Amino acid sequence: MRTDFIADGTGNGYNKGKRTGGKQMADQMKGRIHSVESFGAVDGPGIRFVVFLQGCPLRCLFCHNPDTWDGKAGREVSAQELVDEILTYRNYIKKGGVTLSGGEPLLQAQFTAEVLRLCKENGLHTAVDTSGCIPLERALPALQQADMLLLDIKDIDPDDAKALTGMTNQNAIATLDYCEKVAKTVWVRHVVVPGYTLNYDKLERLAEFLSGYNCVEKVELLPFHKMGEYKWEVLGEDYKLFDTEEPTQKEMAKVKGIFRSKGILV
Ligand code: SF4
Repeated sequence: MRTDFIADGTGNGYNKGKRTGGKQMADQMKGRIHSVESFGAVDGPGIRFVVFLQGCPLRCLFCHNPDTWDGKAGREVSAQELVDEILTYRNYIKKGGVTLSGGEPLLQAQFTAEVLRLCKENGLHTAVDTSGCIPLERALPALQQADMLLLDIKDIDPDDAKALTGMTNQNAIATLDYCEKVAKTVWVRHVVVPGYTLNYDKLERLAEFLSGYNCVEKVELLPFHKMGEYKWEVLGEDYKLFDTEEPTQKEMAKVKGIFRSKGILV
């Protein structure tokens, strides 16, 4: 269930009494969000509160949320307001957690870091759902606060990644290397797009590459779909995958088999 975020300012957060040194920072740290989903079941382990942040530097041809691209759109909230809202759902998400998604949450790395810090302070598990496109040194404050990452590897081939998204996969791989170094859990996400990433040779290479990372707990192989196509039209953007078919169940089964044969959980 995705709803528009309502910062009602009631401040009915559970850590209200604990707001001391960090309060000023949390009140002053502002970010822009697109929307929230209070009972997310597909963005990390368990039932999660998912925040979709506004702004993304990539232009993935298959993007189903182009309405998150514009960093100046959306709603401005403070980290504290957002976490107060999250904490009203605490009983529902205590076995799951909080996921910051987008858009690209690491584009607002300081805000993301502060929201995650407050969530952790309140005992909630934290995840960041990212394309990994933000340079590591800029993303680091937020990465350090995340218990785990949902990390897109859009394409194993750097040039093909650029053609598909507008940027190579260099930063995403640097982010994965960082996670390996600090033993941070990663679920890799890979969208299977006929004519682009549905290429068995490249999928073999990707599976082989990922099998070398201990931090990769599993790979989520997501079939391309066109559910966001209408948004491109509304925004006046040119949707290039108009004629691209969704992968068949048989093709997806074969793709999964490639990863399983390398010992990867899918
Ligand atoms: S990274 Fe996500 S939000 Fe950004 S363009 Fe790609 S699919 Fe869309």
